[in-house]
Amino acid sequence: MGDADLIDGKAVAREVRAQVAEGVAGLKESHGVTPGLAVVLVGEDPASSVYVRNKAKQTIAAGMASFEHKLDADTPHSEVLALVETLNRDPEVHGILVQLPLPGQIDADAIIQAIDPAKDVDGFHAINAGRLSLGQPGLVPCTPVGCVMLAKKALGDLTGAHAVIVGRSNIVGKPVAQLLLREHCTVTICHSRTRDLPGVTSQGDILIAAVGRAEMIKGDWIKPGACVIDVGINRIEGEGGKSKLVGDVDFAQAVKVAGSITPVPGGVGPMTIACLLRNTLRAARAIEGIEQD
Ligand code: NAP
Repeated sequence: MGDADLIDGKAVAREVRAQVAEGVAGLKESHGVTPGLAVVLVGEDPASSVYVRNKAKQTIAAGMASFEHKLDADTPHSEVLALVETLNRDPEVHGILVQLPLPGQIDADAIIQAIDPAKDVDGFHAINAGRLSLGQPGLVPCTPVGCVMLAKKALGDLTGAHAVIVGRSNIVGKPVAQLLLREHCTVTICHSRTRDLPGVTSQGDILIAAVGRAEMIKGDWIKPGACVIDVGINRIEGEGGKSKLVGDVDFAQAVKVAGSITPVPGGVGPMTIACLLRNTLRAARAIEGIEQD
């Protein structure tokens, strides 16, 4: 058996961003509306700062307005809440993203639930999570949307495929399961208490790994020919003591067994910001009462 096909997340993300930019230009021309994304960063977590910088850069490149709010690490909960309430009322802001994790003095869940669900471009608000599980239109979390786009890129129609997801978080595992149900997959969700995890993962025609454990999923946990989507981002020590990024899947082993696989980096990662921009455009259209494409 040869090596798996690589699923190029960078290329797919580029396509999504180009579509968004086209939609933004159209919205400006037809309705004079510029979609605006506000990002709130509390503190100076280095990874979060990099994400926020990239988000702002790509927001502007797509022709949208970017509003960055950087607050000190010791900002009290009430001040973050007040900022969210101001952004909820701001007509130039169509999407609000509060970068997680938040420092300990801030109740992250209360902040997320305070975001107007119409502007909740991360799709984490209970209203949007509920709409997703009921199959109603709403804003859907970005990384799970990106995972499904990549699986469809590799396999086309997903109807009837057995999708096995490792991880049941509210931001990845659960929403990706809902989206795959929408695509008519048979869905199995695994977690830390799953018995015989390799026995379950090796049944998946699609295997989604969202665990946060470096290279946990080995080659013999994978069904030959399966489509493997690796959400994990883990920093480990590489050759010569230099740190490197790896996924939750042991790529060197998996590439010999899978039919298609996302690399880390360059797989799911780039899709997250592209889908955030897509959500911001969708939110702007919905708020302005304009039909979606
Ligand atoms: P999380 O909230 O920590 O959830 C991890 C899940 O994995 C939990 O459901 C946990 O089970 C399960 N798990 C942990 N150890 C396990 C084990 N030994 N066997 C089976 N299941 C196990 O993580 P997350 O936020 O979903 O993120 C997962 C990974 O994706 C992380 O590496 C994160 O950095 C990455 N990520 C990437 C992007 C991106 O843009 N590419 C976006 C988001 C997240 P229990 O529920 O039983 O504890």
